[in-house]
Amino acid sequence: MSPGLAGIRAEIDAAARDLLIREPYYGHLLVGMIRLVTDGDAGIRLVPAGPAPGLAVSAAGWADLSPAARTACLRHELLHLTLKHPLRASAYGSLQLWGLACDLVVNQLCDTAALPGAVTVADVGLPPGRTADDYYAMLREPYTRACQGGDPDGSAGDGPADEVVAAVRAWLDGPAARCHEAWRDFAALPAATLATFTHGVETLLATTVRRATVRGWGPLPAELVEILELVIRPPQVPWRRVLRMFGATSERTRLRTTLSRPSARYGTSPGVRVRRSSRLVVAVDTSGSVAAADLTAFFSEIHAMWRRGVEVTVLEADVSVHREYRYRGRPPETVSGRGGTGFDPAIRRANELGHDGLVYLTDGFAPRPAVASRTPLLWVLTAGDSVQDLSHLPGRRVRLTGRNG
Ligand SMILES: [Zn+2]
Repeated sequence: MSPGLAGIRAEIDAAARDLLIREPYYGHLLVGMIRLVTDGDAGIRLVPAGPAPGLAVSAAGWADLSPAARTACLRHELLHLTLKHPLRASAYGSLQLWGLACDLVVNQLCDTAALPGAVTVADVGLPPGRTADDYYAMLREPYTRACQGGDPDGSAGDGPADEVVAAVRAWLDGPAARCHEAWRDFAALPAATLATFTHGVETLLATTVRRATVRGWGPLPAELVEILELVIRPPQVPWRRVLRMFGATSERTRLRTTLSRPSARYGTSPGVRVRRSSRLVVAVDTSGSVAAADLTAFFSEIHAMWRRGVEVTVLEADVSVHREYRYRGRPPETVSGRGGTGFDPAIRRANELGHDGLVYLTDGFAPRPAVASRTPLLWVLTAGDSVQDLSHLPGRRVRLTGRNG
């Protein structure tokens, strides 16, 4: 028996109230969104709704779900919104593969027990903790094979690779893939509208975090809290302008077709790879004189560079380089170092890497470097207590304002 559209609207409101109490972040986010009830059985999904993304709930789809599944689906969609997944869809050749990659990220941040058709990293044999960009690249081959169909019980055997293809195919044919179909409508929006949507979502997230965290973060996983902390902490350096010194002429992520065979079954081309527009080495001064709050500020600047499409290689260094890794959208849990400071080892390593430039995040407490940087060098100094006379630092210098506390 269907409760009718008005009845479903009342049930969604009740689910929102329940979330407000138990999981305030999701509750406040849901309450802050446009909610639509539609005919049909398209499930619970994000759709463009006037001036912002909205949440559409189809009557039949809702009626078919258990209360636990409804909450799980709401949480899943709200996480897609938090990570702006539909708004980023236009950069990817295959919206389905992008949806799958995004589900792998989102399903690590929530309980998937009640989520219909949920896919996990374990199902597709991939490591946790990577970005949707990474999963998109990693799954291109099995996705192409899954789309090409063929006989899943064929003679190729049933090794791990075939299990992955089968998992991808099950996802494509299941209820989870269908919830991303409206992402096509986001991808088709003019760039200016998408920019408005993105700004609107960022404002909504900031408001939501403020309202939801009055009594702390609640039961949110640490990874999600980290992401949200970056959302509400805008960068202090005007990277758009500053990055020009490194020859980052194009801010837009460039796409390169690596495989253009379209899938007969799904009519999509997965062969588009995201290429970062410029490569920078970012040295993070992890010496004992740098406060934990400064390190947090450093990583929000790194995140801002990364979001502008820069490929960032991080060097954690005090008197020597302790760790070197690609930044992939998440700050490390801890940093290595905490000794004295010397700039030479990181500059020497950056010279070896030969990327487009070096950004050195530091409090400036170290002698003038003896090694010259062979690429453009930008010093980013901590706010407050950092050294006032910067004449020993060769290259361009910018100081963090500390306005984010
Ligand atoms: Zn999804």
